[in-house]
Amino acid sequence: MKLSLALKERDHSVLPHSPGRLVPVLNTEFSDSTFSFELGNRLTDTAQPTGKQVEANGGAFQGRTGVIHTPHGDIATPAFTPVGTKATVKAVLPEAMKDLGAQALLANAYHLYLQPGPDVLDAAGGLGKFMNWDGPTFTDSGGFQVMSLGSGFKKVIDMGTVAGATGADGRPIGDDDVAVGKERMAHVDDDGVNFKSHINGDIHRFTPEVSMQVQHQIGADIMFAFDELTTLYNSRAYQEEALERTRLWALRCIAEHQRLTAERVGKPYQALFGVIQGAQYEDLRRKACRDLGAMPFDGFGLGGALEKENLGTIVRWCNEELPESKPRHLLGISEPDDIFTGIENGVDTFDCVSPTRVARNAAVYTPDGRFNLTNARYRTDFSPIFEGCDCYTCTHYTRAYLHHLFKADERLSATLASIHNERFIVKMVDDARTAIDSGEYFDYRDEFLGKYYAKKVAQQKAQEEAAARKAAKDAERAAAAQARWEANMKAKAESEARRAAEKSARGQEGGADASAQAESNQPETDQADTTKPTSDEK
Ligand SMILES: [Zn+2]
Repeated sequence: MKLSLALKERDHSVLPHSPGRLVPVLNTEFSDSTFSFELGNRLTDTAQPTGKQVEANGGAFQGRTGVIHTPHGDIATPAFTPVGTKATVKAVLPEAMKDLGAQALLANAYHLYLQPGPDVLDAAGGLGKFMNWDGPTFTDSGGFQVMSLGSGFKKVIDMGTVAGATGADGRPIGDDDVAVGKERMAHVDDDGVNFKSHINGDIHRFTPEVSMQVQHQIGADIMFAFDELTTLYNSRAYQEEALERTRLWALRCIAEHQRLTAERVGKPYQALFGVIQGAQYEDLRRKACRDLGAMPFDGFGLGGALEKENLGTIVRWCNEELPESKPRHLLGISEPDDIFTGIENGVDTFDCVSPTRVARNAAVYTPDGRFNLTNARYRTDFSPIFEGCDCYTCTHYTRAYLHHLFKADERLSATLASIHNERFIVKMVDDARTAIDSGEYFDYRDEFLGKYYAKKVAQQKAQEEAAARKAAKDAERAAAAQARWEANMKAKAESEARRAAEKSARGQEGGADASAQAESNQPETDQADTTKPTSDEK
């Protein structure tokens, strides 16, 4: 494949000061007047981060507030976008999602393509109408699912530590690896991807054009360009190749999107976001942002393999390059601290399946961290999940009732726990937005995360303290053994000195050989232990 070579040649075109080339001007126009982004406050204008905070962030904060205007309403940002994969937030009515403050919902083009089929959504008047949600909607391109579902890549693209990971045969995981017991379900070529349906094994093909056609039929306000998903295990050469493919696919997505927009007269405008890949490589991420940032996208999605500890750094690289005038969406994250990392580094919208996924397993969020409702201690606990939560569940139901529902395997358990968890994350992000505007973001962040992770931190601290106590005790024991040894050595030296003095006294008296003999037969040591103590002596 010649793609990596081509990439190197093209590299020059995006470098400033390349001889004979113009520095590309980043596109700042929106494609349609019904979609736009209105920048509110910049985090660094409302709050003065300390030098230490900036240093910890690895560079300046890009956070901001704003409003995304869509044909189906506005989204005040930063905003959390709950996920309704198959045109439903699992177990929760759309009306309940509205009541709990969700501003927009994100559905999945891959799932809706397979079931019920995009023609059904098109005939229904689009995703929002189909599911009785009148607010803004997003669809992702299907690229992630096409390339991850069933292939076994799922476990390796999850955020986490991957250093030194190996495949089933003990080799480092490489470009062609899939998880143990899985067959590769997706095959990527320069034109698109062949994949097997995870439902019935049928073979399908997605190309940038197909993804655009499917997403236009689904009819969400914001769509994402079709991109190639890589994992952290892919080689650098493969990442370059995939990134170039994603760049070319982005151009094809725009062309097909413009064609469909012109063709589908009378439909509300659908905005198209380009997706930034490049894994953990700074030069690749920055290049992707410059390349796609210069294209007529309405916004950008930050995608791909991200390790939790590098999340902030990678998001910062991207948002330093992307046009500030366009909204940015961080695709699929999981934990509250990740959302804060995204917000302060300039992400406007987030999606995440965790609130409903963990809710179905009886795990609920509170300001003091997560807990599990199936724990026996909640059997007769008639308080809400947490005092002060304004959600429908907490204002009407108790922990004891939820405990019972989970124990009895009743479906209402998922509904009530999901409503609470979605409200918790939506409100957490809403409060972050308010805090940016009021200049109190860092206080809010530190208080929230300090409390949320306090138990975890306390456990860690307790472990550290226990380790310190053990070390102190060991040192004490070693010191005592050392003192004992020194005392014995001193006693031995004194006893030897005494004997020598006695012997010398006898010698002066003309001494008897017998008594000298008896003396020399005495054991070297008396009762003294002269073994040198070691530090691990018990
Ligand atoms: Zn609640």
